[in-house]
Amino acid sequence: MYSENFTFIVKTSTLYGILAAVFSLVGLFLSSAYLVGNPLEVSGISVEHVTGHIVLGLMIGLVTFRLKYFLIGGIFSIILDTDHLIQFLGIEVVPRMAHSISFGLIAIFVMMIIFGKRDYLLGAISFAAVLSHISFDILLSGTSEFPFFTPFTSEVTIFKGYDWILMEIVAVMLVGISVLISKRKKMKNEFKL
Ligand SMILES: [Zn+2]
Repeated sequence: MYSENFTFIVKTSTLYGILAAVFSLVGLFLSSAYLVGNPLEVSGISVEHVTGHIVLGLMIGLVTFRLKYFLIGGIFSIILDTDHLIQFLGIEVVPRMAHSISFGLIAIFVMMIIFGKRDYLLGAISFAAVLSHISFDILLSGTSEFPFFTPFTSEVTIFKGYDWILMEIVAVMLVGISVLISKRKKMKNEFKL
């Protein structure tokens, strides 16, 4: 059981990170691409940054009351930043591509297809981790812009002030709803048996 959980966490987190990095490639083809620069210089990385993302991510996983989902909540939320890796190439891109609704939806789809079509918790966390990540980005910088509706619009969405609270609440609620859905489905199945 223990090693099963461990493998689940490692596999899902690795794929989630790869997905975010691959999705950032879409930004190469968008007309709004520009030269962003080295992410370590432009975005900066600090202990606060990493810890904050993990803590807010763990909070969305906490709602499930299951250790493995609690942990992937924290890991997904920080690993989403693999979409910055493309900036190292020094070519024109749209920064933070995975900080978007479309990435969240693709992540639900891919993660559930690969790791379990009935794993609603995994699906919900895959999407909610994006919101939770954005939440801390806003909290940390006070105001921040994201290609939230990419690729459907090239305009960035600006979030500021207390928007981070709203983002985190929606994220927690989504995971909460998935917990209810999976409980209901389980009860139905048991009833059938
Ligand atoms: Zn970020």
